[in-house]
Amino acid sequence: MSTILIIEDEPELVRVLRSYLEDAGFDVLTAYRGDTGLLMWESRRPDLVILDLNLPGLDGLDVAREIRRNSNTPVIMLTARVEETDQLIGLEIGADDYITKPFSPRVVVARVRAMMRRMERGQELEKVLQIAGLEIDEQAHTVSRDGQQVALTPTEFTLLFEMASYPGRVFSRLQLLEATQGTAYEGYERTIDAHIKNLRAKLEPDPRNPVYIETVFGVGYRFKKEKGQV
Ligand code: CA
Repeated sequence: MSTILIIEDEPELVRVLRSYLEDAGFDVLTAYRGDTGLLMWESRRPDLVILDLNLPGLDGLDVAREIRRNSNTPVIMLTARVEETDQLIGLEIGADDYITKPFSPRVVVARVRAMMRRMERGQELEKVLQIAGLEIDEQAHTVSRDGQQVALTPTEFTLLFEMASYPGRVFSRLQLLEATQGTAYEGYERTIDAHIKNLRAKLEPDPRNPVYIETVFGVGYRFKKEKGQV
């Protein structure tokens, strides 16, 4: 059974989320403060974390950074305002997804399920892509460039794997969003740009002149096709 840790200081919200997630078959841990939440994450190592942005004790951003420093556990951020979302991804804290309040608990369950499916699928398939000096191991969820490991968040990994599986094929933002979330929510497409920016910063020798992930203006992105490749 997969374990979800909810770190959120609104008791009613925690109660509702816990109830929906338990009904969906998840084991649920809860913490009402950032600092205690982080301790619980360290001791229990849940499979996924639902993390509020504004928390007493330790801010959600700091909690996410700490988690990301030590693992690639998927993190779904809960935010009160849409304006905060750019900041979330822009700060490269490595949140994999975010949901703005108020939200339907069903949406949260759907996103959690989608993310868990991706993780499980990654574990089942033994697939290693070797392309353009990159080695992308879907099972281990690791990427190396010229033998050097590149640390990516689960979302960045999914984007890279999706595109690198079909070099030259153009993906729209909505398609990429769907690949990362299991479902596509219109209006959220621009978050893909932030993820791509972070991905390039980690992957590309010169992020301003990307050699792996190309922008296709007005459409989306594609993984560059190697010379001679059909
Ligand atoms: Ca809060």
